[in-house]
Amino acid sequence: MSDAVSTDRSDLDALVIGAGFSGLYMLHRLRDSLGLSALVLEAADDVGGTWYWNRYPGARCDSESYFYSFSDRLSTDLLEEWTWSERFATQPEILRYLQTVAERFDLRRDIRFGTTVTSASWDDDAGRWTVGTAGGERITARFLITAVGCLSTTNLPDFPGRDSFQGAWYHTGLWPHEGVDFTGQRVAVIGTGATGVQLIPEVAQEAAHVTVFQRTPNYDIAGGNHPVTEDFDRKIKDDYPRIWARTRETAFGFPYDVAERTALSVPDDERQVIFEEAWAQGGFRLGTTFNDLLLDEDANETAAEFLRNKIRERVHDPEIAEMLAPKDHPFFTKRPPLENGYYETYNRENVTLVDVRRSPIEAITPTGVRTADGEYEVDSIVYATGFDAMTGTLYKLGITGRGGLSLADKWAQGPRTYLGIATHDFPNLFIITGPQSPSVLSNMPVSIEQHVDWIADCLRHLHEQGVERIEPTVEAEDGWVAHHDEVTGMTLLPRADSWWVGANIPGKHRSLYPYVGGVGVYRGICDDVAAKGYEGFALSRAEATAPA
Ligand code: FAD
Ligand code: NAP
Repeated sequence: MSDAVSTDRSDLDALVIGAGFSGLYMLHRLRDSLGLSALVLEAADDVGGTWYWNRYPGARCDSESYFYSFSDRLSTDLLEEWTWSERFATQPEILRYLQTVAERFDLRRDIRFGTTVTSASWDDDAGRWTVGTAGGERITARFLITAVGCLSTTNLPDFPGRDSFQGAWYHTGLWPHEGVDFTGQRVAVIGTGATGVQLIPEVAQEAAHVTVFQRTPNYDIAGGNHPVTEDFDRKIKDDYPRIWARTRETAFGFPYDVAERTALSVPDDERQVIFEEAWAQGGFRLGTTFNDLLLDEDANETAAEFLRNKIRERVHDPEIAEMLAPKDHPFFTKRPPLENGYYETYNRENVTLVDVRRSPIEAITPTGVRTADGEYEVDSIVYATGFDAMTGTLYKLGITGRGGLSLADKWAQGPRTYLGIATHDFPNLFIITGPQSPSVLSNMPVSIEQHVDWIADCLRHLHEQGVERIEPTVEAEDGWVAHHDEVTGMTLLPRADSWWVGANIPGKHRSLYPYVGGVGVYRGICDDVAAKGYEGFALSRAEATAPA
């Protein structure tokens, strides 16, 4: 390993792509813990990733702020010093937090901003990756680590006539930094996922009229956002060791305990009280009330009906309430948004809900949105239409492995990975929060840290053993894919047409992209693989073909 950060960018130990939570922590571990020469390439002008790009009104986290952050793995001092102002922090506050991390650990000096990676090819003779950028640079490194995020390539549906629209249009994932003033405007919002649910109440307060185009209603859960009091902040800080330990053990990386009981094992009235109590606490607590909500359809239906009734209580017009109440998929088989006043928005005079499942969008016209039922004239269109998740950004990197095999081709029939972190024929490539790892089915900072720490420990091991190449075996990969599919099949998750299964992108291979076996279980498997000398990986020394 080199002693200092190399200034010769053609001889890096490791190249990291992306400077969000993942890339920042990865750089810190590579450079400051391992002493490797490392460089981060980032398309944006600054750090932040998700929180750099998603600046739409209402954007905030729905993991609670106190655990939507780096843990004691990064710094106990920072945990003590940083105080979140709200239970669910806003985008500007999370961005400020990540900027603070970058400053505190002096990370920016090894990040090249405004640099988009367009190709990455493995040279099997040299045992190195060569990365090309939009600016025409070529940079080589022994290890390539993608930290490009699961939700960083926007999905802009290809509606006929989309480019003919004469007004202004925006995608929430590429929101203008200067903000948008909708005062007095007629605004169309297409999409009612977590993003639309946050944005719509905010825009409705400003615009003359908002027309919401909904294809699938969601089971939105009350967020229960509130300011963080001094007392709460102190209690959390004192409890952090236990909190972080819990996040690493639980199924979803939240420090919440799931009740050890099934939904149908309790009488109806008791179950109702349990749901009400969880509802009153706000956030994803509702998902912790029973341990079979994701496994058993009848159990799931009890929570689904509870949530439908909440919508019916809050939305005055019964017809609109029924449009908003999901009936075509089980609860939590699409990611449930957290909402703060979303349903009440439909009681406003200036908000119209259009059901585009019944009456699909036929075209975007120069003056608005046309469905089978007629045209809605608007001044602006907001596409809250989500992302080509998990693989979209990876494919855009143009990664080619041994023999020129492209990652997109290899995964054409669905991702094939070992532990969601590496893939055969792509030596020395590590994918942070890749498909078939818990990633988006978890509180992500916890999963990000686990991946980064595992990769860092692996690189240390390779160095100590004089190993220059690491690559999963075909057998290990086949085994992981089979395990992933088996676990997936035990749940209700494949039931819905969600982005978790790639259903939002026309032509995308359908499979459950994240791993649903649980954050704690997954961590145990990864630790076990490491403890057994990186079982399932072929490790080879320089020039050697024999395993180390
Ligand atoms: P990102 O933050 O997506 O960063 C990836 C970076 O890679 C970006 O800066 C991007 O510009 C860069 N990049 C991509 N391609 C290239 C390229 N070709 N060349 C150079 N750079 C490139 N998760 C939770 O757990 N809890 C939440 O409450 C939560 N809220 C969310 C809210 C929104 C609006 C969204 C969109 C996502 C949310 N997520 C949440 C998921 C969120 O993406 C992760 O929590 C986390 O921020 C991901 O960090 P990351 O560093 O892995 O990826
Ligand atoms: P999303 O969940 O994929 O929602 C996109 C919305 O656009 C859906 O309502 C979808 O309808 C609709 N849509 C897509 N294509 C369409 C088309 N051709 N015609 C009509 N409607 C169309 O995306 P998102 O809301 O941006 O959220 C993505 C993920 O980011 C979330 O699940 C979450 O993980 C994260 N996120 C978190 C928060 C938070 O609260 N912290 C906020 C925002 C995002 P269908 O459902 O029918 O496909």
